[in-house]
Amino acid sequence: MTNPFQILKTEGELNDVVRNAFISAYGNRGLEAVDAVRENRIKKYRDYFVVVGNTGEYYLEGSFCSCDAFLYGKKCWHTLAVKIAMELGMYETYDLWYYKNGVDEDEPEYE
Ligand SMILES: [Zn+2]
Repeated sequence: MTNPFQILKTEGELNDVVRNAFISAYGNRGLEAVDAVRENRIKKYRDYFVVVGNTGEYYLEGSFCSCDAFLYGKKCWHTLAVKIAMELGMYETYDLWYYKNGVDEDEPEYE
């Protein structure tokens, strides 16, 4: 099977060939990831990448993701979406700190 990232490089855009390659390689994760990038749901802050998911926003750093699936040791589609977005430069850039502007309000115990 051909690596979908290779196909992405060749095609240079998120067309249906690329979308199908990700779906056959990653199943539903591939589908969710490609569609999120297509719908511009990836944001790059100074400290994190943020993916707007179906039920909320998740922040990512490297191979870490803040969603529940990742927390329970499962592979989530958010990390895949960020990889695709980085490959194409398809993300919105915010000159802000995501953590300071949002997350800490919900977690007052964090110092
Ligand atoms: Zn995730």
